[in-house]
Amino acid sequence: MGQINVLDISVANLIAAGEVVERPAAAIKELVENSIDAGARNITVEIQKGGIALFRVTDDGCGMSGEDAILSVKRHATSKIKTAKDLNQILTLGFRGEALAAISAVTKFRMLTKKKDDPSGTSLSMEYGSAPKVAEVGCPNGTTIICEGLFATTPARLKFLKSDMSELREVQSSIEKEAVSHPDISFKFIADGSMRFSSNGNGKLSDAIYSVYGREFANSLTPVSSSSGGITVNGFVSAPTFARGNRSMQIFFVNGRPVRSKIMSAALDQAGETYIPVGRYPACVLNITIHSAYVDVNIHPSKLEVKFSDEKSIFSAVYYSVRSAYETRLQRPTLVDNKPSISTQLNNAKITEAFAPVKERGEKISEQLSIDTVIKPVEIKIEIPKEIEKPLSINVTTPKQASNETSEKEVVIDYKPSTSKASNQSKSHDMPTYQGLSVDADDMVYENKNILEEKLEVKTNTINTDAQIPNKIANEIPNYKIAGEVFDSYIIVEYEDKMLLIDKHAAHERINFEKLRVGMTNLTPNTQLLLSGLKLDLMDSEIDMVNQYKNELTDVGFTFEINDKCVTITGMPIDYNFTSGRELFEKMISELLENGTPIEIQKRTVFEKALYQTSCKMSIKAGRHYDDETIKWICDNIFRYDCIKYCPHGRPVAYEIKKRDLDTRFGRIK
Ligand code: ADP
Ligand code: MG
Repeated sequence: MGQINVLDISVANLIAAGEVVERPAAAIKELVENSIDAGARNITVEIQKGGIALFRVTDDGCGMSGEDAILSVKRHATSKIKTAKDLNQILTLGFRGEALAAISAVTKFRMLTKKKDDPSGTSLSMEYGSAPKVAEVGCPNGTTIICEGLFATTPARLKFLKSDMSELREVQSSIEKEAVSHPDISFKFIADGSMRFSSNGNGKLSDAIYSVYGREFANSLTPVSSSSGGITVNGFVSAPTFARGNRSMQIFFVNGRPVRSKIMSAALDQAGETYIPVGRYPACVLNITIHSAYVDVNIHPSKLEVKFSDEKSIFSAVYYSVRSAYETRLQRPTLVDNKPSISTQLNNAKITEAFAPVKERGEKISEQLSIDTVIKPVEIKIEIPKEIEKPLSINVTTPKQASNETSEKEVVIDYKPSTSKASNQSKSHDMPTYQGLSVDADDMVYENKNILEEKLEVKTNTINTDAQIPNKIANEIPNYKIAGEVFDSYIIVEYEDKMLLIDKHAAHERINFEKLRVGMTNLTPNTQLLLSGLKLDLMDSEIDMVNQYKNELTDVGFTFEINDKCVTITGMPIDYNFTSGRELFEKMISELLENGTPIEIQKRTVFEKALYQTSCKMSIKAGRHYDDETIKWICDNIFRYDCIKYCPHGRPVAYEIKKRDLDTRFGRIK
């Protein structure tokens, strides 16, 4: 080892820049977050060549005095914290005091800044970490930072940047997140002279999502909202039909800070079980609000990672709020897409003409408008679908309401699974059972006559419709007419000014599933005792799990004894046979071993998976013979329960078509 040197400050800044300013998107994110922290109402980001040639961030925030401007580009200079204690309660997006030092070390850097009450402003320029040149200037209130030639003096780092187009995508994605996480700030993003998006800053998350991600995405969303135990979850998740092949549209914030969060993703995944198709990922925009003392943002210089002091509570909050949204607020998909009619297209053309190229601070903006500019014009009043605008309150249950206004229903969300177990009400309102269901050693056999028996039972119970699926809001069944059936698969139903096209098999699957699931929430476990015990040899870690979750396993219907390294199952949940019950037990243990999520949810997810597989098998076996009464029973259930909108695999149960849409298609109305 040679002699130790204390590094020159410029070298130290370059090293820091490696972490903070990895690429244009990271640098721009830092500048935008500074603008947000400065209380800006309007933020404009402009870039050229993916930000590599130039990026400029302009805000109308608090601005800086001349002295502060000089300090701001020094390393570890911040106005946001003072002492180590402040690190425990960070309320701003920045706090490390290194972004401006790092950015000014690797760009040609110019800053114009002025505080509102100061008579003049300050201009500060630096080139790749040189001493700053400062002058007094006249400039608007707020701060503008312009950076050119990123990494021009460090070719090794320049080499690692991707194409201009990829860098642009990264920058856009990062600003999009900032814009939707701050709906009260108006954002504009201009790339190579074209306005890519702008948000109006009216404070509505739904409007911000619409402006940033467009109409199709906004229309696919279902509101999520809950608050319990000091954790508030707010935002939207996409309908199952809009699930994607990757997680790129899962957007999470914690106290308004865009973050990557494994725990939130995992909760979203689990909440999507039996709604989202396997291998697909729901899109979401979810903000968690939690006291800053319970979240540590000081994990990584990029501040994208956070650490929660109580991960289980975060998991539960996200899981139950999203789950509840899926169970009660999902809208039925519409079959007629919202392609603009000819008249709307003409109007759009007019809008395009009227929408003059944007000129900012006298700079020429390309005359060539991008497609986005035409689709999402800035000044045009955006119509947000009603369901997205609805207030997202919770805590009031309205059990019997008009059937088709799901989004207006307010929902009780209970974070504590133990209390969400069926109330006495659900016990006394037991639904018709699958008594005739005979279970084979390896398979389920569903005899058709049982459908009829069950149907008859349903018919005699129709007055007490709430009782069919306990814990679910039961709607009154509207007057409807079964118009017919096509391809031995799809039922056509007419009601009010709409028609439904129902996939009868998918509908049957969901109904079976919901009925089976009731067993999970009953207070008394549904156990069937075995004639002879089933002995399982388990590993030590597995035995530990069984011991740890003894009560929960008993709750779901298992009874068992534990001796040394072996568990003897003496009773199983009703409807499970020797083979499937054993599989269920073993699967639960291994899943529990795999991840440390809260048991109630884990149990529920594992259970639900097993249940929906079973219900699908049964529906398939029930098969092809759907007589008129069964068809009517399916339709009744679809109207009665909001939860029967997607089959357990995430496929839609029914599409809705409005008469008005058909009339438009046929040219009867414009
Ligand atoms: P940090 O944001 O972590 O404090 P930065 O290096 O990003 O560190 O910024 C240093 C300081 O410069 C900030 O604490 C703030 O006081 C000031 N500053 C930076 N950008 C702005 C801005 N756009 N408006 C007003 N003040 C700013
Ligand atoms: Mg900062």
